[in-house]
Amino acid sequence: ADSRTPFDFDNSYARLPERFFARLPPTPVAGPALIKVNTALAAELGLDLASLTQSQQAAIFAGNVVPPGAEPIAQAYAGHQFANFVPQLGDGRAILLGEVVDRAGQRRDIQLKGAGPTPFSRRGDGRAALGPVLREYIVSEAMHALGIPTTRALAAVTTGEPVYREGALPGAVFTRVAASHIRVGTFQYFAVRDDLAGVKALADHVIARHYPQLQGAAQPYLALLDAVVERQAMLVAGWLHVGFIHGVMNTDNMTVSGETIDFGPCAFMDAYDPATVFSSIDRTGRYAYANQPGIAQWNLARLAETLLGLIDADTDQAIALATEVIRAFPDRFQAHWLAGMRRKLGLFTQEAGDLALAQALLAAMHGNGADFTLTFRGLCRAALGDAAVRGRFAAPEAFDQWASMWQARLARESQAAAERAAWMRGANPAFIARNHRVEQALDAATTRRDFSLFEDLMRVLARPYDDQDDAAPYAEPPQPDERVLATFC
Ligand code: AMP
Ligand code: MG
Ligand code: MG
Repeated sequence: ADSRTPFDFDNSYARLPERFFARLPPTPVAGPALIKVNTALAAELGLDLASLTQSQQAAIFAGNVVPPGAEPIAQAYAGHQFANFVPQLGDGRAILLGEVVDRAGQRRDIQLKGAGPTPFSRRGDGRAALGPVLREYIVSEAMHALGIPTTRALAAVTTGEPVYREGALPGAVFTRVAASHIRVGTFQYFAVRDDLAGVKALADHVIARHYPQLQGAAQPYLALLDAVVERQAMLVAGWLHVGFIHGVMNTDNMTVSGETIDFGPCAFMDAYDPATVFSSIDRTGRYAYANQPGIAQWNLARLAETLLGLIDADTDQAIALATEVIRAFPDRFQAHWLAGMRRKLGLFTQEAGDLALAQALLAAMHGNGADFTLTFRGLCRAALGDAAVRGRFAAPEAFDQWASMWQARLARESQAAAERAAWMRGANPAFIARNHRVEQALDAATTRRDFSLFEDLMRVLARPYDDQDDAAPYAEPPQPDERVLATFC
């Protein structure tokens, strides 16, 4: 790598046709200052940050210095926003600097979010406020630590400039790392323009980059659809297993790589309620917790529509083939969901009644205001004979009733209790990014430039499956006066 750049760039997306993006550099800011750099991720990416001073790093992550080898672009995409189709969205405030191949051989995008206006900005200012930048940093890294595929946080900087939302807020830039930033909406951008050559170039790029095993398949584009369906089924099941609500599952916020992307008004739920919505802009509850699998399938059907011309020259035949793949989503989702629920319940074997057993627990939790995370974490101890978790239920007998069915089920397995409890602890986190804790951290940072709560939270959330006795308060749900019911992007 060049001595002035930590990145060894190889920019495959910038080699695609020029109509896929706009070339432009980030817009410099007045006063870049580092908040945090993810040194573990930097090492994974093979970046040489040690040779740069803090201010050189801040200049790069603020967009003031474009490192040699970068080919900055804003990517074009379209998308359905709350089911309304918008033919042109695109990176309105993000600039892709380029791609690096990490130490494991995986190609990763390096993108600055909040890096200034682009030809896709519409009425937006191209900037990001400090609070949302820190939310994305916290929640994306928490998701990673939970073992859920996600874009990552490489760095956050403040800009020394205000951004104007309801009032003036401190500005910030977020450096996002992703397997790619290619979305369902990227396919829609070319499809709506009847640009079949564009769809094909994009699909071939995605196959080579994310699904190389499909190269040479008899029906590569149908196989691509099938592969994305599978990854999204697995992803959304993972979200449900940890109580995550994405909040804005628009088609432009769904990757074809299967990573979680775009942490706007997202949140983890406290008390279990399948209708939970946090996003202030989701007035109808379209993106409520339990709607997420159905929305994923809807989005995947929009992806399927873009691929029809590549799947078969005979449109009826293409529709029949694609429909079959989309119709398989619920079963695939269910398989991933049930497999994960079995582990959360400590079931090593499979029985026909397991689905009903899992659903019965969720129903009892819902009816009794039980905390999602702590109920499952408490089950790990219940497997060892300590039923303190019953106290999480408004009527503890509701838990006892369910637990007698569960114990009968466990009795038909040969594993020892200690083995079961240890296995369950790896699937039932003690620590999630509780919304009130996230808000407290954002508030301290925004109003007082106090990043200590942010740092504390990052440290705790890096080890979600470990009992961290010194961090016990971070495991608890909010007190009534601490509850945060709405999130903003
Ligand atoms: P999102 O709701 O984050 O998925 O963004 C939807 C669209 O709005 C994307 O095209 C974004 O690039 C664009 N956008 C969001 N915020 C801004 C902003 N502050 N300035 C310009 N474009 C924005
Ligand atoms: Mg988005
Ligand atoms: Mg966003």
